[in-house]
Amino acid sequence: MFGALIDLHLHLDGSISLESARQLAAMQNMPELSKEQIRSVMVAGSDCHSLNDFLKKFAYPCSLLQTEATITKSINNLLHELRDDGLIYVEIRFAPQLSMRGGLSMQQVVEAAIAGLDDKVLPANLIASLMRGTHDEVYELNKQTLEIAKQYLGQGVVAADLAGSETKYSTQDYEELFAYARQLGVPFVLHAGESEYVKGAGAKSVLDAISMGAVRIGHGILGLKDPNVLSELASRNISLEICPSSNVCTNIINTITDLPFETLQKAGVKYSINTDDMMIIGTTLRKEYEILSQSFNITPHQVASLLLTAVDVSFASEELKQSLRHQIKEYYGCE
Ligand SMILES: [Zn+2]
Repeated sequence: MFGALIDLHLHLDGSISLESARQLAAMQNMPELSKEQIRSVMVAGSDCHSLNDFLKKFAYPCSLLQTEATITKSINNLLHELRDDGLIYVEIRFAPQLSMRGGLSMQQVVEAAIAGLDDKVLPANLIASLMRGTHDEVYELNKQTLEIAKQYLGQGVVAADLAGSETKYSTQDYEELFAYARQLGVPFVLHAGESEYVKGAGAKSVLDAISMGAVRIGHGILGLKDPNVLSELASRNISLEICPSSNVCTNIINTITDLPFETLQKAGVKYSINTDDMMIIGTTLRKEYEILSQSFNITPHQVASLLLTAVDVSFASEELKQSLRHQIKEYYGCE
C-alpha cells in the first residue's frame, strides 16, 4: 500500500541490518556472532527505558564501521534494503568521528561514505553528525566535522547534525560550533526536544536549536507543549523530523497516538515521518506508515501530502525534487 517513500532522519549505525552486520563483521575480521547475539546487542528491547539506554545500542554497529571498505559497504547495503522497502530518496546521517578508532582520518571516513552512494540504486545524500560530549572529548572533532562537511558540501554531503545524549549535554552548549557552521555556510539539522533532562528543558532545547539556525529539527516532540515553540517553528518555516516508533522506544511518548499531529497542523508546523534507527527499533519506513495509518486512520492522500512535504524540506537538488514529486503523485494517484 505504501511506496514512493522518503526518509530524512536515518542513522547509518542504527540502521545496519542483521545480514549487513554479519557481512561487515567478517570484513573486519571480527568474531562471528549469531543472528540472535546481534539482535541482543543491537535491538532495543525491554531494557530500553530512555534515550540514554537507547544510545548504548550503538556500540556494536559503530564498531563495524572502522574501515573504509565496511563504511562503503554499509551504505551500499542500506541503499539496496531501503529501495526494497519502497524508498525513492533518503538522507543518511552518520558521525565521522565515531569511525576513526581504526586509524582512519575523518577525510577517509567521509570519502568512504560517499563512495557507498549509488544513484542507480537509490538517490541519497549524507548528513554529517556532530556529537554531544564534553568540550575536551568532542570540540575539536566537531569542528573538524563541520570543516569536512563544508569541503564535501554538494558532493554527497548536504548538511550537519547534532546527535548524542541531550540529557547530559544541553543544545545551548553547541552554540559556538553552530555559529561556525553558519560562518562556513553549512546548513544544519539538530536533534532537540527528544529527552527531558529537567522539567522544561524540552522546550528550551528546541528554542535554542531554532535560535542557533537549525533548518530542520530532529524530533522536537518534548518542546511542543510550549506555544512559543510552535509559533517559532511555524513562522520560521522550520520542519520537524518525526520518528514515531523511536519516540515510543525512548519513552518520550507512551504510544503512537500520543504524537501531536493535530497540534502541529493547527499551528501550521510542517513535519516529515522517518525511522531514526531501523535495526535498533525494529522498524522500516513502510512499517512506520502502516502504524500511522492504523493509529490515525490516515488516507493515501494524506500520506502523499506528508511525502510531498518531505520533498520540500529535503536537501535534494531542485531537479531531483521535481522527479520525486512526480513519482509520489503518480504512486498515490493525485494531481
Ligand atoms: Zn536521530
